[in-house]
Amino acid sequence: MNVHEYQAKELLAQHGIAVPAGHAALSVEEAVEAAKKLPGPLYVVKAQIHAGGRGKGKFKELGADAKGGVRLAKSLDEVKDHAEEMLGNTLVTIQTGDAGKQVNRLYITDGVDIAKEYYLSLLVDRATGRVAFVVSTEGGMDIETVAHDTPELITTFSVDPAQGFQPHHGRAVAFALKLTGDLNKQAQKLAKQLYDAFLATDCEMLEINPLVESEDGKLLVLDAKMSFDGNALYRHKDIEALRDETEEDPAEVEASEYDLAYIKLDGNIGCMVNGAGLAMATMDIIKLNGAFPANFLDVGGGATTEKVTAAFKIILKDPAVEGILVNIFGGIMKCDVIANGIVQAAKDVNLQVPLVVRLEGTNVAEGKAILNNSGLAIVSADNLGDAAQKIVAEVKKAA
Ligand code: GDP
Ligand code: MG
Repeated sequence: MNVHEYQAKELLAQHGIAVPAGHAALSVEEAVEAAKKLPGPLYVVKAQIHAGGRGKGKFKELGADAKGGVRLAKSLDEVKDHAEEMLGNTLVTIQTGDAGKQVNRLYITDGVDIAKEYYLSLLVDRATGRVAFVVSTEGGMDIETVAHDTPELITTFSVDPAQGFQPHHGRAVAFALKLTGDLNKQAQKLAKQLYDAFLATDCEMLEINPLVESEDGKLLVLDAKMSFDGNALYRHKDIEALRDETEEDPAEVEASEYDLAYIKLDGNIGCMVNGAGLAMATMDIIKLNGAFPANFLDVGGGATTEKVTAAFKIILKDPAVEGILVNIFGGIMKCDVIANGIVQAAKDVNLQVPLVVRLEGTNVAEGKAILNNSGLAIVSADNLGDAAQKIVAEVKKAA
């Protein structure tokens, strides 16, 4: 789960980490009120969307010369003008895709006089199974570009969870940032605070870009992006409450209401599978047959007729879907129960696109008989390879 920049900074501040003062605002009036609470005379008006690259972003509704989603203001009037231009308009950044994201919230912060910008992030490194630090002197810009063009300017190391964060980790961060004197000490302290905050919140990714050195010699978190492990949210009600569903894909929100793991993808073959591993294998084999999956969808172990129907509806809401492949292994669930669910769901949603079903496991013969006798144009498949070939062929035929 992602949160907004202002929410991430509030969480970091709770862990004693230095961030510029600021207040969120939902309207122009609130933006001006927020600015009045700050010392001034320099303010920053920041669009709050779940995507980076806001500074260099462009508003769809404004001309090409208009400023982006992070703007400096030197008076309350300027704050007001920026808020008026930004709120309700659509910001397109390198991370939003062409559709962009509507700006419904702003963050008004105390403007910092920046001496230098750095990059610092923590993430769960899947290769080592550890929390890794990624550090670079090249902050403020797109880290992917730095990684591509000048990888030697990025330092990465991970922390052994059995040992935990050690003073040498802090020194490694400060060294990678080429900091000396008091700034070096600040970096060491910050590294430890960030690591502690990362663990305490079950964070998956914490990216600070830029971390800045201010003209008066302070290290400050100027931008923060945090995402949290969805499976751990049950023990962080305060973080769960920060969820902004307007930032999420509506189909993904609906799927989560039915406890379905759904992720929209770019292809044309809808997939309904039980078990994440089987879902991945299904996506792979669709690709192997020259087509692309429209989604990842794991209906889980205990899929009921209601769940299967909801899953069909969610898949079909995607206009790109030209065919559906159902791949279910009946283990805990029985194939006849699943087959009944599929038939019921196909009738309920008045299915118009080709449907290939591969069932395997307990009561598979009964399940197949139910599909064959349903009167629906369901194509039955015997194994994964067969199923993928059939759905790709059916979609081609229908096109
Ligand atoms: P992003 O574009 O979505 O990554 O948003 P950031 O919060 O990183 O802001 C983009 C850029 O705006 C930063 O890299 C800074 O150069 C600039 N910026 C943001 N806040 C301030 C500030 O308080 N003072 C100054 N001078 N520049 C700022
Ligand atoms: Mg940034």
